[in-house]
Amino acid sequence: METHEHTAFVRPLFSRETIRKRVAEIGASISADFREITEENPLCLVVVLKGAFIFAADLVRYIRVPCTIDFLSASSYGKEMISSGDVTIRHALSVQSRHVLLIEDIVDTGLTIQRISALLSAQSPASLGICTLLDKPSERKHPIRIAYSGFTVPDRFIVGYGIDHAEHFRQLPFIGILDS
Ligand code: 5GP
Repeated sequence: METHEHTAFVRPLFSRETIRKRVAEIGASISADFREITEENPLCLVVVLKGAFIFAADLVRYIRVPCTIDFLSASSYGKEMISSGDVTIRHALSVQSRHVLLIEDIVDTGLTIQRISALLSAQSPASLGICTLLDKPSERKHPIRIAYSGFTVPDRFIVGYGIDHAEHFRQLPFIGILDS
């Protein structure tokens, strides 16, 4: 039995083992869908920091086609539990003619991933797909197409497995709802 600081405030939703199995399934789907990918133009995984870092680290080990890994940072939340509506994106990526797969932690209103997609689309990638660990469809305001989704979650504040509240809880090995 593992113990973690603050765990008393977090109601578990998905266990470490449930997450592991789902991440393996997503990795298998990506590997099948991109089986034609070549060493010359490998799949370009773009991880949205910070929340997706643990998901991406696990997922990449289930991807069986040639790939590269890059990171960009996007923040729409400060220390608040509601989105500010402003998205700050930092990146130094060059994705022209690449097959890009964005790896995100949570798609909520869709604003963040829509802004990132628009930014990268402007560089004319060969393709651009979205893979998210969690989807909150009830909150969607900006319609987007998600190619791979781990779990659908209710409109509650989620933490764990890389996902934080004011930089806390990222190290939890499970995903849960933060009691407020
Ligand atoms: P969107 O732009 O789709 O509204 O929000 C996406 C971003 O908001 C996610 O990448 C994530 O960083 C943050 N976010 C949305 N819902 C939650 C949540 O329940 N918990 C945490 N910690 N962050 C969230």
